[in-house]
Amino acid sequence: MKVFVLNCGSSSFKYQLLNMDTEELLAIGLVERIGLNDSVLAYEATGKEKVKEVSDIADHAQAIKMVLDKLVDAEVGVISKLEEISAIGHRAVHGADKFTKSVLVDDEVIAAMEECVPLAPLHNPANITGMKAMMDVLPGVPNVAVFDTAFHQTMPASSFIYALPYELYEEHKVRRYGFHGTSHYYVSNRAAEILGIEKDNFNCITCHMGNGSSFAAIKDGKCYDTTMGMTPLEGLVMGTRAGDVDGGLFKFLENNANMSIDDIDTMLNKKSGLLGISGISSDMRDIESAAAEGNERAQLAIDALMHRIVKYIGAFAALLGRVDAIIFTAGIGENAIELREEVMKRLTVFGIKGDSDKNNCRGKEQIISADDSAMTVMVVPTNEEITIGRDTKEIVAAL
Ligand code: ADP
Repeated sequence: MKVFVLNCGSSSFKYQLLNMDTEELLAIGLVERIGLNDSVLAYEATGKEKVKEVSDIADHAQAIKMVLDKLVDAEVGVISKLEEISAIGHRAVHGADKFTKSVLVDDEVIAAMEECVPLAPLHNPANITGMKAMMDVLPGVPNVAVFDTAFHQTMPASSFIYALPYELYEEHKVRRYGFHGTSHYYVSNRAAEILGIEKDNFNCITCHMGNGSSFAAIKDGKCYDTTMGMTPLEGLVMGTRAGDVDGGLFKFLENNANMSIDDIDTMLNKKSGLLGISGISSDMRDIESAAAEGNERAQLAIDALMHRIVKYIGAFAALLGRVDAIIFTAGIGENAIELREEVMKRLTVFGIKGDSDKNNCRGKEQIISADDSAMTVMVVPTNEEITIGRDTKEIVAAL
């Protein structure tokens, strides 16, 4: 069964075509600047020449049609006709408490996602646009939504409730939801497999660190707590997002810095984090090289990130009681060797011992703690697309 996986943003999308019988990647790519001039379509079929085309692409449906044309292209294509695509799997960001697992997309699901728009005003409309465009371009082919929030729905109320008037939860659904659920689910399952531990008995802390970052405390294979909150802003120091801040900041900035709520929201989401502290970049590679050249604010950005990583791992270890593994994943987690080394050094209170040789790796499955470490620390590259492909296959096969 061939599944087209779509991760749709407001002016861009990433896609993959997967053969879900063998779990092989057939083609991968992205389209950027949709609706703007000079849109870019990137496409790469496994084992074939990369394609990059610049043109004006008006909307998502047009972009999808152009990608589908590539898939059946005589030279760079990987399928002979579009009917070979059995299903489409969508990354869906916010399902609030409406979805505890992946679902077949129908009018009701789209309406439920629309209800969640106030909780994810940038992401959900883009996801819905992608779903509607796929239905338009490939009518009759089933679409499945795989929610970032679904895995976190097992959190107990004591983890997800904010200490605010309870009516805000009842009337406005103000609570912690958590994100990156597909990644936390994938890497925790994979780690349990690698370690040969029964998934239902596996306790771990998954550390997803990319442009956006979140950790999850996973107890008996289920999410128990996570660092992101009602929106993807809470928690760690991220590329451009502040993570945890004092709610008192809002009034203070309004009174003293002449900032409106919109200004503050933009600042917290787009101008903070590594970028805000360093003033240089949101990209960890730029920050690391600036710090190596002696830039003090770049070093402070790394130190602040490190501080919060250690703080959350400590907190989650205390909540879990027993930790079978700490798992690093996503761009920073899979690649930042020195950062992982330093985090392991700072966790000696838990009897953690790193192994520098094993830790000297990027982007591959690897245990990076010493054999006599009290907790296993490992790298597991994330693969959200394969999880979306698997859920899609399972749902569509049962139709
Ligand atoms: P996204 O959240 O957009 O999917 P990624 O998971 O690709 O992002 O992570 C992007 C982050 O990973 C960036 O901060 C980038 O600098 C960082 N990163 C990628 N490669 C390396 C590397 N070799 N060393 C340190 N950081 C890296």
